[in-house]
Amino acid sequence: MLMDVHVVRHPLVEDVLAALRDRRTPCDVFRQLTRRVSVLLVAEATRDLPLAEARVETPLEATAVRRLAARVVAVPVLRAGLGMLDAFLELVPQAQVGYFGLERDEATAVARRYYEKVPRDLSGAAVFLLDPMLATGGSAAMAIEGLADLGARGVRLLSIVAAPEGIALLRSAAPDATVYTAAVDRELDARKYILPGLGDFGDRLFGT
Ligand code: URA
Repeated sequence: MLMDVHVVRHPLVEDVLAALRDRRTPCDVFRQLTRRVSVLLVAEATRDLPLAEARVETPLEATAVRRLAARVVAVPVLRAGLGMLDAFLELVPQAQVGYFGLERDEATAVARRYYEKVPRDLSGAAVFLLDPMLATGGSAAMAIEGLADLGARGVRLLSIVAAPEGIALLRSAAPDATVYTAAVDRELDARKYILPGLGDFGDRLFGT
């Protein structure tokens, strides 16, 4: 099995990315743009969710309709993934929400899990991991492993910018996952930041 990577190509995505990358974009605008690009990513990543036949009465007559028939779980990775959650819930308000707290050691860039609150038994659920920067892939791999321990299969990772190194790591660590991203950038720098990237996502989102 080879992990799928969907690069969401859309003029609106490109335009938002341009502003997210711009170092002059202030925190409040950065937040709005994160939400806007996340809506576009979520729409793409939910394209194949199952539907079930149902019937409703319109004001004029009864008709066949199709309703979402999936248990959906969104799991933002703290803290940067929080910026994508509102957009997710806007489109899938019935989703359950879990949280993974992962932080990377600034010296080694290795992720450490410090918090976990995720619905139990994820078997059969469509699970969406929200983590805007897929850099080394270490934290995404750790989160997907944690979700797999709870029964999740075929986790969909929504990132805004991905590095080739992170995609390569996930291809071996989580071959049944799917990545949806707005961009695949050039490479990581020595500190494991994505180049050209957009800097530290959490700092830009929260103004720290
Ligand atoms: N996390 C970020 O916020 N930015 C990067 O470039 C890499 C990891």
